[in-house]
Amino acid sequence: MKTPLVSEPSRGRTGTPIAQILSVVAAVALVLSCSHASVTPVTRTELTLGTTVTISVYQKINEKVLDRAFARVNEIDKTMNRVGDGSEIAKVNAQAGTGPVVVTPDVYDVVRTGIHFGELTDGAFDITVGPLVALWGIGTDDAHLPTQAEIAKVLPLVDYRLVTLNDADHSIYLQKKGMQIDLGGIAKGYAADEAARILSEAGVKSAILDFGGNILVIGSKPDGDPWRVGIQTPDKPRGNYLGIVRTSNRTIVTSGPYERYFVVDGVRYHHIFDPKIGYPTQNHLISVTIESDDSMLADAMSTSAFVLGLKKGHDFVEGYKGMDAIFVTDSGSVYFTSGLDGVFTLDDPSYHRESFPADSGSTESTSPSS
Ligand code: ADP
Ligand code: MG
Repeated sequence: MKTPLVSEPSRGRTGTPIAQILSVVAAVALVLSCSHASVTPVTRTELTLGTTVTISVYQKINEKVLDRAFARVNEIDKTMNRVGDGSEIAKVNAQAGTGPVVVTPDVYDVVRTGIHFGELTDGAFDITVGPLVALWGIGTDDAHLPTQAEIAKVLPLVDYRLVTLNDADHSIYLQKKGMQIDLGGIAKGYAADEAARILSEAGVKSAILDFGGNILVIGSKPDGDPWRVGIQTPDKPRGNYLGIVRTSNRTIVTSGPYERYFVVDGVRYHHIFDPKIGYPTQNHLISVTIESDDSMLADAMSTSAFVLGLKKGHDFVEGYKGMDAIFVTDSGSVYFTSGLDGVFTLDDPSYHRESFPADSGSTESTSPSS
């Protein structure tokens, strides 16, 4: 389970205790703040969206602002969950093959963005992955390796092209019975954007939003320096970081198979699927981090790039305005886009920087190309 790290004060070079805040981090990134101005943040943590969400505001605020931000996050969790009472997505899924369901505009927009990423990635990102998520049960007590026959049975239900969207009435129709939308690869990013919007509208100028390791920072540190976001080393215990991104007003979103998985005969089966084959993606990537100003798009992008593999994923990121990326492979190579030069520093000596392959001939993906 994703649990936060504990904040610990540490000592500066002079031996004086300084306000070093190791703000909560989960899977993938942590915010390292070292401010001599020593502002004590107003912090709140809740379990929602299947993870631990912490918001830390580095200025005096009315706590009601946090109430509103978390109420919105919980509302998104409830309405966009694949299952559960009160979920609009669950209603759409229940009506698959029967008829369209009208949903609220925000749910509709997230689904439409998800479908758009399906088109852009030729189905590497596919929000109709629900039947595979249910079948494999990864991250639940029911996680198991399905039979080939079980996978073959659900694969025809995983196809974003079989979703009918009606902009006029905001209705969604899944054309085949048994289809299921799952917004797990995008909703957390949308929720972070919404929480940040509420805080910004209330006048918040300096804050860290940590959605299970997906980070969004508002403004800069209280002393005006950029925030320092540590990128988790994928194969080391939490809190070890590969390097640091120094940034303001951005979001840092990571996808990787190192938190939710099970192992059978030495093979790691994780929660990010290749929708074309029905198995977890196997392509030598161990994490993909996206830096952007839009957390929903960064969330969809990190999952997409992970499934696409190093070469195609890199091409996709480069072609998408306002996105930068860090790719980490199982052989210790770290690739990052030129927009992160001077922004990301690689600190873990067991990893080395590589340049992206120049031509588009090779892809690391071992999935059958279709
Ligand atoms: P996390 O939720 O751990 O931060 P991601 O953003 O990469 O990681 O989302 C993974 C989730 O996205 C899965 O748990 C599942 O709900 C969903 N998912 C899995 N494979 C795909 C895919 N190929 N396209 C879209 N969504 C996916
Ligand atoms: Mg994602």
